[in-house]
Amino acid sequence: MAIHRQPLLQDLSCDIAIIGGGYSGLWSAYYLKKLLPDSRIVIIEAKQVGFGASGRNGGWCSGFLPISLSEIEQKYGRSEAIKMYNESFQTLDEIERVIEDERIDCDYHRGGTIHGATNAVQQTRVRHDVEQLHDFGFGEEHIRLLAADEISSRLNINGLLTASYTPHCAVIHPAKLVQGLGRSVERLGVQIFEDTTVLGYSPGQVKTNSHTCRADIVIRATEGFTAQIKKHRRTLAPLYSYMVATTPLSASQLASLGWANRETYHDARNMLIYAQLTQDKCIAFGGRGAPYHFASRVKPQYDMHSVIHDKIIHSMHEIFKVSKELEITHRWGGPLGVPRNWQPSVNFERTTGLASLGGYVGDGVAATNLASRTLAHLIVGDNHPLTELAWVNQESKKWEVEPLRFIGINGLLKIFESMDRHEARTNRPDKIRSKLLDFFL
Ligand SMILES: Cc1cc2nc3c(=O)[nH]c(=O)nc-3n(C[C@H](O)[C@H](O)[C@H](O)COP(=O)(O)OP(=O)(O)OC[C@H]3O[C@@H](n4cnc5c(N)ncnc54)[C@H](O)[C@@H]3O)c2cc1C
Repeated sequence: MAIHRQPLLQDLSCDIAIIGGGYSGLWSAYYLKKLLPDSRIVIIEAKQVGFGASGRNGGWCSGFLPISLSEIEQKYGRSEAIKMYNESFQTLDEIERVIEDERIDCDYHRGGTIHGATNAVQQTRVRHDVEQLHDFGFGEEHIRLLAADEISSRLNINGLLTASYTPHCAVIHPAKLVQGLGRSVERLGVQIFEDTTVLGYSPGQVKTNSHTCRADIVIRATEGFTAQIKKHRRTLAPLYSYMVATTPLSASQLASLGWANRETYHDARNMLIYAQLTQDKCIAFGGRGAPYHFASRVKPQYDMHSVIHDKIIHSMHEIFKVSKELEITHRWGGPLGVPRNWQPSVNFERTTGLASLGGYVGDGVAATNLASRTLAHLIVGDNHPLTELAWVNQESKKWEVEPLRFIGINGLLKIFESMDRHEARTNRPDKIRSKLLDFFL
């Protein structure tokens, strides 16, 4: 159950002010309070804890980052890529530990992920992903191709040609996790103010719609909403992801699918889809591809998109035939934060006391934990190995000014969509659009 908290009712001073009460803000508060128990930490949240993506995501708590091993290698070297992925995979153990210690009931189950292919191009991609991990020294215990009979015994879905399996993913109930974290940090002595919007911040102070908070350290953890803060219009672009959920599967419907281990499922199309089986046996199914809104606008009415929701339902019916027999009980959506280089980062400047974390694109559930632990150690300055990770102090350059940003992002989304259509129709890669992608990225 969500708790309602007081807004900021007066000016105040503290050691660390965190803007945003999602996973990033809460995990940061959690680890900072563990490392600096005497510090006065406050979280300032515009709406309520978990209002953002943290309270309404697809519940994939995945050890995979939104940046691939080869992308990290290209920029920072091979050993940095391996280090980053090792830490990211181990993050699930850490989340599991905290959930247990703090008794956060969030329907956590580590069943892994199945990555499927339904056409020849997708098959190449699934195989390539497995080969890439193996090539970096992550063996079959980290990811492997499934034999045909194992695919159908795990998850019996339509038209699957190839699939891989990795154990590095758990399912969670997003809102239960974020509410549980909120309660945990309060137990540790962190103060949370809700219904208080930060308008802007600078070294030493955070200006809200009502009062000012003075703080030695200010952490921005506002992800998809960042563009609304003064001087941050072009820091992270909000892209929307949308989801639906069904009525529960009956015992016989579930038996027809298998899915006994509640693996998360996605396929290798370009425009991402993602599914999980919730603890109460409903299918929660999501997808990206919604148009970007001019000037990085984020509005309540954008949380619903009938055309995209219909496309998502169509994809779900295609993949899980049995879902046609179920009712759609919930439709929702929300903004993700996308940096210009599509790579998350953790940033701290000791001279100004300003910090930020985010840009997880659509993979923040587990990554927020790793980013927050990293940030806590950076702030404490204890030379912890996490502070050497490749994403530290690597903030992306800003997005282009409008209308270039609008044309660029929406052009990219159109290319992904056309590539998927081409690949499904011809069973061949779309070389022309692949070249175009290089131009946009
Ligand atoms: C529909 C959907 C499905 C997703 N599915 C998955 C998934 O399955 N797996 C996965 O890994 N990732 C998924 N993601 C992404 C993931 O949820 C996010 O990366 C993650 O929750 C980011 O957490 P955060 O705390 O950084 O940001 P948020 O959760 O967005 O929190 C930011 C908070 O800051 C507050 N805020 C913003 N501006 C201000 C301001 N000016 N003043 C005060 N407060 C402010 C907001 O109200 C919000 O509560 C999904 C996202 C969406 C939208």
